Formats: sequence, structure tokens, C-alpha cells
Amino acid sequence: MTIMPRQKILRLILGDQLNEKHSWFKTPDRQVTYVMMEIRQETDYVKHHIQKVAAFFAAMRAFAKRLGALGHRVVYLKLDDPKNHQTIADNIAYLLHKKKFTHFEYLLPDEYRLDAQLREIVEKLPIPHQVADTEHFLTERQELEKFFAGKKRFLMESFYRWMRKRYNIMMDNQQPVGGQWNYDQKNRQAYDNKMPIPKPLLFKNDVSDIDRTIRKNRVKTFGEIVPEKLIWPVTRDQALALLKAFVKDGLPAFGTYQDAMTAKSWFLFHSRISFAMNTKLLHPLEVIETAVNAWAKKKPKISIQQIEGFVRQILGWREYMRGIYWSLMPDLASMNYFKHATALPDFYWTGETRMNCLRMAIEQSLKHAYAHHIQRLMVTGNFALLAGVHPADVDDWYLGVYIDAIQWVELPNTRAMSQFADGGLVATKPYISSAKYIHSMSDYCETCEYDWKKRHGDMACPFNSLYWDFFARHRKNLQNNPRVAMMYRVWDRMDRVAQKEILKQAAVYKKNLNQL
Ligand SMILES: Cc1cc2nc3c(=O)[nH]c(=O)nc-3n(C[C@H](O)[C@H](O)[C@H](O)COP(=O)(O)OP(=O)(O)OC[C@H]3O[C@@H](n4cnc5c(N)ncnc54)[C@H](O)[C@@H]3O)c2cc1C
Ligand code: SF4
Repeated sequence: MTIMPRQKILRLILGDQLNEKHSWFKTPDRQVTYVMMEIRQETDYVKHHIQKVAAFFAAMRAFAKRLGALGHRVVYLKLDDPKNHQTIADNIAYLLHKKKFTHFEYLLPDEYRLDAQLREIVEKLPIPHQVADTEHFLTERQELEKFFAGKKRFLMESFYRWMRKRYNIMMDNQQPVGGQWNYDQKNRQAYDNKMPIPKPLLFKNDVSDIDRTIRKNRVKTFGEIVPEKLIWPVTRDQALALLKAFVKDGLPAFGTYQDAMTAKSWFLFHSRISFAMNTKLLHPLEVIETAVNAWAKKKPKISIQQIEGFVRQILGWREYMRGIYWSLMPDLASMNYFKHATALPDFYWTGETRMNCLRMAIEQSLKHAYAHHIQRLMVTGNFALLAGVHPADVDDWYLGVYIDAIQWVELPNTRAMSQFADGGLVATKPYISSAKYIHSMSDYCETCEYDWKKRHGDMACPFNSLYWDFFARHRKNLQNNPRVAMMYRVWDRMDRVAQKEILKQAAVYKKNLNQL
């Protein structure tokens, strides 16, 4: 009888792979050791918000502890551990050599960068390796590309309908429950004080130790933190509690006010579960099912427009953006359709601007590492696009500032959707607006030093002249787009003197972006 040598397997868990329901963790196995690592490779590839780094490390530490409690063997390398070699490649090489592992396994990373790196690492390994799925997403990496094969545009709506049918979410014999797929028209209300804004469930995670380590090791970060009270969920129990709180308090008005912005609240009726989902503490299907079940039970309180609006975000937008990422990478990361080259204004890092909408959105981003979707798209993103900021600068800011920012979801949202740098594969027209939209969807203009009604002259709102200047300077790229043709007709009919004044005003503002 031949005796098989005992296998010793090393399994890598990345910081956004905290899915305790994964089949890897079904039963503890003494032949398997899991490794998790806090590394400079990940803290330094972009400048991150301090809360983002702290929340990732706190969630990773809690996950390692949880695995240990479930009986799994875990090696956890803290940032300042002398044995930590600070890159995945070096740590893996060190552990394989030191502990004589016979096999190496990892979970499919969500970022192109890490995917390439891990493939390179395993190619050079002297031992066998295996890759497993994260069992998190509802579509395969390349599925969206196949779905849209041969199409010029990737329309989210058709993908979303297909996903509803495929997962049988709110369906009745292949037709949407309620008879409509889309309630967007009803879901575009400004906040009118009719529904009280819920009190947020904020956690008080003490991350002082992590905060000290980050600072002692001179990791470059920005933004604010109260290290004794990190508000973000770092365990599955906390993530579930946040989901429960949202379903009870936010969901009943989610759809109605999903595009609203107000100085009264930094999150309104939004769920704030993106960090929990992106680290995989929560599974998208359990989020959808929890919300749909609540709707089914409390129909008069939670109307169909609310639940449909929410399901669309996760079953539709989130999976769609991931598919876009994998079908357009690596090219997406360098696309710049408008050839924009301006540097990101300094106030994105400080919030010091007289433009109230930008000040509010940026200040809360620096304070909480969070802004809701319409602030990201129609305030900070809108302004960067109108001002002609280089998409690489815009990406670095979004990737650094938000608690939920991981490249697979940040990049398609920023470069493609918000900056139109893909030339319109994702969005059918650039997401830009003048002050009129911001005024109609928020109360920011009421207390702003600028006048939202003025296009030029003293304290004219910068969004107005920059808006028309954008159309004028990108005429070649845009005039044949049927979705914006109307704006060119308005511009062409405008009085010549007014046009000249607007462009003159825009030129002054573009020259003095940092002083706005
Ligand atoms: C310029 C820009 C950059 C963005 N960067 C990120 C990012 O780095 N990480 C990230 O998770 N989201 C990003 N988004 C999408 C969206 O703004 C956030 O998911 C959302 O604001 C997170 O807050 P929430 O959990 O309260 O979301 P809610 O409004 O409560 O929505 C529920 C969930 O739906 C999902 N979702 C909603 N919209 C999108 C979308 N467009 N793409 C993907 N998922 C979506 C998220 O998982 C979110 O948690 C970005 C959007 C824009 C316009
Ligand atoms: S007036 Fe202009 S700058 Fe001020 S809040 Fe309104 S849109 Fe923003």
C-alpha cells in the first residue's frame, strides 16, 4: 500500500472576501491554513480615506477571529508584523517556504490588477494551485459581455429585466409583478419633508489600535475619523443589523427620494450597505430577498416603487457595473473620450469652496467616507466633467474617498457612467446638468453664495456657464447624439451676446477653479 503524503494547503483570503458562507468554510480542515494580510501594496496603490483603511482592517481582523472561533487555522499578518513582507507575492513565497505547503489556493479577485498579479504568482509556483469562485456575484465575469455581444450600447434596462426573470425576483409568469418594470418616473422627487428622515444606525467600533498602526507606519491617508467610534459595520452581525434597520426605516421611502439631496441629511433613505456588500459580509441575494420579503409582508407601507427601485440597484446596476468592468478592462482604465486634462481642483481634498452643493457633498465625504449616488453623480462627478478634469484624477479621488470604493465598481461608475470617458458604451449621454437640476433636486442652492439662476455676471453659478461651455467645446463629439441634440438647438437659438458672455464667464471660472 502506498501512503499518500499529507497535503498542506495554503488558502489566501483577500480583504474584500469576507464571506463566511463560502463553501471553503463549511467544515474546518486541519490540512488547510488560511492567510490574511494587511499590506502596504494595498494601502499605498492610491491615497485612501483613513476610515476606509481602518474599516477594511477591522473587518478583516474580525473575520480572522471568526474563522478561528469556527475551528479554522488562520495566519493573520498585521501591518506592522515583522514577518509581513508587505506584498501578496512576498508573503506567499515566505509562507510556502517556511511552512512547506504542498498546495496553494485563492479566490477569484474582483480587481483586474489583483487578478493579473495572482495569475503571475501562481505561474511561478513550484507547487499545484487552484482558483475558486467567491460565490458572491449573481453573474459570471464575462456574462454581460456575452449578453450584449454585437451591440453598440450596453443597455442596463435589458440586462436588468433578464436578471429579474433569471432569478425570478418579483415576477409573475415572466411578467413583472405590478405590471411595470420601471418606476423611475415616480422615483425622482426632491425631499419635501413628508417622510421623517430615519435616525441612522451608526456603529461604535473601536479602531484606535488600527488607527495608531496606520499612522505610526506613515500610511498616507486623508479624511476624518473618530477612532473610538467607527460607524461602519465590520462584522456580519453588524452588517445584518444595518440591513434590518434599512428595511424598516429606509426602504419605505427609498425609491421616492433616491435622487433627492438635502443639507438636512448625509444619507437620507439610502441603505449604506455598500461596504458590507463589497467586502462580501452580505450576499446580494440575501439583501434582495430580505427587502422583497419585507415588501411582501408590509405592502401598504412599502409600495412597489420603493422595492423595485432598490432591487434595480443591486440586481441591476451592481451586477451590470461588474460586467462592464470585466468586458472593458484593461482599456477602461485609460479611456478619455473628451481628452480632458485639467487637474482635480484642490477643494475636492478639503471641501473649501463657496459652491454649496460641492461643499456639502465633499465635506460629508471627508467626514464619513460616504456620499449617496446622486451626490457622486450629479454634484462631484458632474462638476469634474464640466470642468474638464482628467478622468485619472477623478478616479483616484473616488477610489480613495469612499468606504465602498473597490476598482471593479468604482471605475465603471466613475470613468464610464459619470465621466463619459468610454464615449457612451454605458451612458447614452453625459450625466451633466446646470444649476437648474441641482436646485430642483436639493435645498443646496437656497444657502449658496452663488446665484443658481444666473449664467454669467457677479456670483453666477459656475455650473451654468460651464454647462454651456461643455456643449460648445464638445460639439464635434456630441452633436450627432440624439439625446443631446435638443441642447444644441437651444444653444444655437440663444442670443449671440448671451453666448459670448457665457463662454467668457466659463473661461474665467475654468482658469480659477481653485478659487471657486
Ligand atoms: C462616480 C461614482 C462612483 C461610484 N463609486 C462606487 C464605489 O466605489 N463603490 C460602490 O459600491 N458604489 C459606487 N458607486 C455607486 C453608488 O453611488 C454606491 O453604490 C452607493 O452610493 C452606495 O451607498 P448605499 O449603500 O447607501 O446605496 P443605496 O442607494 O442604498 O443602494 C443600494 C445598493 O445598490 C448598489 N448600487 C446602487 N447603485 C449602484 C451603482 N451605480 N453601481 C453599483 N452598485 C450600485 C450598491 O451596492 C448599494 O449599496 C458610484 C457611483 C458614482 C456615480
Ligand atoms: S447655486 Fe450653483 S454652486 Fe450653489 S448650490 Fe446651487 S448649483 Fe451648487
